[in-house]
Amino acid sequence: MVLGKQGAGKGTQCLRLSHHYVVPHIATGDMLRAAVKAGTPLGQRAKALMDRGELLPDDLIMEMVADRLEEPDVRARGFILDGCPRTTRQAETLEEILRPAHLDLVIDLDVPTAQVLRRLASRRVCEDCGANYSLSQPPTVKWICDICGGEVVHREDDTEEAIQRRLELYEHQTAPLVAWYRARHLLARVSGVGAPDVVLGRLVKVVDRARQASS
Ligand code: ADP
Repeated sequence: MVLGKQGAGKGTQCLRLSHHYVVPHIATGDMLRAAVKAGTPLGQRAKALMDRGELLPDDLIMEMVADRLEEPDVRARGFILDGCPRTTRQAETLEEILRPAHLDLVIDLDVPTAQVLRRLASRRVCEDCGANYSLSQPPTVKWICDICGGEVVHREDDTEEAIQRRLELYEHQTAPLVAWYRARHLLARVSGVGAPDVVLGRLVKVVDRARQASS
């Protein structure tokens, strides 16, 4: 599971880790955006809150995550969880859902706030698979995703106010989870500063070490 501020490169790195280890990438933000696009009741409820940068209710998120974690691909191969839990309540529920198993590792992908603000301002995201690009590193063919061919867009919640609110909520609601998981001996802090390949190398090293220790 990967924690980290908005714009820390969490989504991109989780997607790449999921390819590296051939396990499903479960990203609550991507699941919610898919629900918004499909116009489901969940999506209709989620849209206004997401656009303002507010968190969705814990119960609603954890119901969605619990359903996904029951699917056979997850049970067979494990998973990379991205964007959840974001509150202590979600972390407690996740613990109950996974029992008797538990998370193998929680990574805090660390990037200074000034840098995430710069990254968010130029971030562009694939609507279909969630891959991240930026104005300075666009896809090869104009705004068509290199990975899946989806449309690469400026997210509606990447406005200045919504970004501010998301970072505020991160500090108050999500950052305390770093200590929460450290107390459970599950936490590894990895610097998210540097070229994406370099950061991926650091992450793989930490995950390999945890896998060796648990095997
Ligand atoms: P970012 O990390 O850039 O904020 P995400 O794609 O993870 O983006 O999430 C986008 C939005 O989806 C959040 O601002 C929030 O409204 C909602 N969301 C995603 N995951 C959760 C969660 N675990 N709990 C509550 N709301 C969530």
